[in-house]
Amino acid sequence: MPELRKDPIISRWVIISTERGKRPSSFSPPDKKLPDGFCPLCPGNEDKTPPEVFAYRSSGSQVNTPGWSLRVVPNKFPALRIEGELDRRGEGIYDKMNGIGAHEVIIECPEHTATLSSVSLEHFEKVLLSYRARMNELYRDRRFKYIAIFRNQGEVAGASLAHPHSQIIALPIVPKRLMEELDGSKEHFNYKERCVYCDIIRQEREQAVRVINENREFIAITPFASRFPFEIWILPKNHSSAFEDIPDFHYASLAELFSDTLKRLSLSLNDPPYNFMLHTSPVSEKFNNYYHWHFEIIPRLTRVAGFEWGSGFYINPTAPEDAAQFLKEAAPLPSGR
Ligand SMILES: [Zn+2]
Ligand SMILES: [Zn+2]
Ligand SMILES: [Zn+2]
Repeated sequence: MPELRKDPIISRWVIISTERGKRPSSFSPPDKKLPDGFCPLCPGNEDKTPPEVFAYRSSGSQVNTPGWSLRVVPNKFPALRIEGELDRRGEGIYDKMNGIGAHEVIIECPEHTATLSSVSLEHFEKVLLSYRARMNELYRDRRFKYIAIFRNQGEVAGASLAHPHSQIIALPIVPKRLMEELDGSKEHFNYKERCVYCDIIRQEREQAVRVINENREFIAITPFASRFPFEIWILPKNHSSAFEDIPDFHYASLAELFSDTLKRLSLSLNDPPYNFMLHTSPVSEKFNNYYHWHFEIIPRLTRVAGFEWGSGFYINPTAPEDAAQFLKEAAPLPSGR
């Protein structure tokens, strides 16, 4: 059973998941496409993954067989386990609890060599809708306080399988990073009675030096204090606190701007490895006027090293204004629907 342990000084929880460490490939990436070309996420290998929990399928196709266009399965090597009680307890001055959670893999499309920036807008929308579907389902489990959705593109970014996929981890606590954003947003709101992200969007649209692109509902910017070169945020233009509760038609609109942004990134930087993650309100405070959900995209162009690890300071060699200009000038071809 994995264990969650809390750092007694800065209240950061870590997952001690020794079962993952026991894998034969312990400290090399697990499950990588084997030399013989076998990929457990490709169609035809449905029996090599745990049974699917969600799928978009052609009518008439059977579960756990080919015929899917998107498939969600539990992670074969989960960081957290779904069975059991949290059993929060102390050990002297330390706090710990059982590593309860859900860890799922969203197999985004059947094509092994596709990328999220190459799929159609309609398919991109399906990926976003699958995030929503799994969030809504997992939040029915009252043990889960936050659902983290993220994507690792490329080995450098931590992807252990080449097949296009995103991941979901349902957590029994709200992560520290989210708490920091929530606390900062609440503080701004208490002082100004406005959402800090809404204020940022207003100013960015006025200044127009860090805006990459926008459509009716969404905007992509390089944040003013970007930690990393070409860091990007995608936000809804009007205040919205929970990703899973936006109007249906907004997912198509988000797919459009998200796809455009990833295309600009791959054109400008030659398909860089990247991570993206969703930041949205925890289920306990889903509807609020202070926190504004968004995606953060971090291209992995530089390595986090001693200074960053030791200080929490980041040295970013590319001004976000230059990155925005560069991305703005990249001209992606439109995707078909
Ligand atoms: Zn594959
Ligand atoms: Zn807002
Ligand atoms: Zn964020």
